[in-house]
Amino acid sequence: MTSGTRPGAPVDSSLSTVEAYLAAILATITPLTSTSMELAAAEGCVLAEDVTAAVALPSFDNSSMDGYAVHAGDVAGAAPDSPAALPVTGEIAAGDTGVHRLAPGAAIRIMTGAQLPAGADAVVPVEWTDGGNAQVAIYRPAERGNAVRYVGGDAAEGETLLTAGTRMRPMQIAVAASAGRRAVTVRPRPRVTVLSTGDELTEPGTPLVPGQIWDSNSYMIAAAAREAGAAAYRHAVVPDDPKGVLPALEEQLARADLLITTGGVSMGGEHDVVKAALRELGTVTFRKVAMQPGMPQGFGVIGQGGAGGLGARGGAGVAGAKRGVPIFTLPGNPVSAYVSFQLFVRPAIAALQGADDLSLRTVRATLTGPVRSPAGRRSYLRAVLDGSEVAPLSGQGSHQIAHLGRANALIIVPEQETQLPADAMVDVLVLP
Ligand code: AMP
Ligand code: MG
Repeated sequence: MTSGTRPGAPVDSSLSTVEAYLAAILATITPLTSTSMELAAAEGCVLAEDVTAAVALPSFDNSSMDGYAVHAGDVAGAAPDSPAALPVTGEIAAGDTGVHRLAPGAAIRIMTGAQLPAGADAVVPVEWTDGGNAQVAIYRPAERGNAVRYVGGDAAEGETLLTAGTRMRPMQIAVAASAGRRAVTVRPRPRVTVLSTGDELTEPGTPLVPGQIWDSNSYMIAAAAREAGAAAYRHAVVPDDPKGVLPALEEQLARADLLITTGGVSMGGEHDVVKAALRELGTVTFRKVAMQPGMPQGFGVIGQGGAGGLGARGGAGVAGAKRGVPIFTLPGNPVSAYVSFQLFVRPAIAALQGADDLSLRTVRATLTGPVRSPAGRRSYLRAVLDGSEVAPLSGQGSHQIAHLGRANALIIVPEQETQLPADAMVDVLVLP
């Protein structure tokens, strides 16, 4: 199974591991300021407080079924051939806030969610009766507490129902509403701007001349950022002109909590304008990460200190100093950009929100076919995960987008492996 291992393979110390690079990024991220948000607007935000139940849940004894509120003792001997016959003395619907009392030997018609009348200790479902209005025949006994939801049976008053760091998804919003909250203290969706760079890029839908390609990265990464919880905007394509890159970024500083560029960070060359432009600032670090795809990465914080320009350091103490804006410079190949986003940007977006769910889920699965990987680099191979089996897709080149639409997972091939046979067990990153 480990036939591809080469224990003697040299470790390239100029490369960061995926973990070390991510840790350095997360150490730099400061969560956004929390704010009170109406429940209706809180979806996708992350709690910055615990949510406790304002009252016991439920707050009154009530029926869990449509039927008849009774004294259990009055129906103890009921059977199909000798039903208990009880007079029906009233009806309580859900929302009825009146005071009702059940007399001994009687029944009160009751609906799901309606208050249990004083004196009653069980509800007989309508299905166990003849459904009578003035009088009801009951064919089965009901134990004390049958079909009754007691005060506090779900949660005690003051009980913690949601904890800080929880993302407000539909069910969490229901819990907060049920706990009596109209608004919650949350960290909002980070505002993310995505800029693609490249002279070869043109808008999808416009005619293509040889030498050009349609820009897919900015659409993809903006969508991925939204999926990861951000409020993401796509900037128009930025040409390979160092004089154009910095002003485009600067313009976004006031309106973004995070910036993402794609392209222009390759291993050298005068056309790598993002690298050239940002390196000057000294606040963005370019690294090679021991992975494939996505080896060239850049991350930093720009715009600290307000008026001092993009890279001004030492903003602390400066009047009006603003917090810096984290920036990711992702590689240009679409697959590299996508994998880099999922590994590094997604956790950073979550960290800006103070969220618990930093990373994607990993599962173990069996390979259906062999895979290859460069020595010393961790591969992330596009794949289709189906139950406990994972099938690598053909065409794993970083530029090969044709099969990207079928992938729902990434096979992780560890650094020390250069090949794995079919039937090997692997870790698989489950894509959102
Ligand atoms: P770069 O990182 O700028 O050297 O680009 C690497 C490769 O990715 C080149 O083949 C580019 O044409 C391609 N590429 C760069 N940006 C984009 C984009 N926004 N959409 C699609 N492909 C891109
Ligand atoms: Mg380029």
